[in-house]
Amino acid sequence: SRPDLDLAALVRTIPDFPKPGILFRDITTLISDAAGFSESVRRLSERASVYRPDLIVAVEARGFLFGAAMASAMGLGLVPVRKAGKLPGVTVGVDYELEYGTDRLELHEGAVAQGHRVVLVDDLLATGGTILAAAELMRNVGAEVAAAMFVIELPDLGGSKRLSAAGLACETLIA
Ligand code: 5GP
Repeated sequence: SRPDLDLAALVRTIPDFPKPGILFRDITTLISDAAGFSESVRRLSERASVYRPDLIVAVEARGFLFGAAMASAMGLGLVPVRKAGKLPGVTVGVDYELEYGTDRLELHEGAVAQGHRVVLVDDLLATGGTILAAAELMRNVGAEVAAAMFVIELPDLGGSKRLSAAGLACETLIA
């Protein structure tokens, strides 16, 4: 373990992606660094274990990278929440608002047992819209969301305030 390792220094910021004016936080440089990736997963897992989850639920697509490694490290199963039309089995879904238009997240029916405690994982918290939609999906299938974990938070976008207003505990490695 490397508690001194500066994870923020391994995240790259790319201007004007995917649209002009947006500063995109790129985690590919963090996960291609051996120490950076393992230390990210170790810190996320350490914080997640405090919530005693039964299962890790990761959000497409970059949430899969961290959530899969966390689930394996913690000895837990992994359930993917995906964009509409990607999962092959029978799904349950939830529609959520974007800045322009709506999007939809889906989960395999029966993938999360009623009453199970889950930790949600995504790479980055911006407005909180995505993770709140994933949390709604969990509630709709009778699961309990113990917490949401992120590598990065963009504090100016108010995501953590929206999450705490919704009663959702949240942990972030880099703010
Ligand atoms: P929110 O729903 O909180 O507004 O946006 C978070 C979602 O958008 C996450 O699924 C995240 O992967 C993606 N996202 C938005 N901005 C960025 C960014 O700058 N970098 C990365 N890596 N993901 C972003």
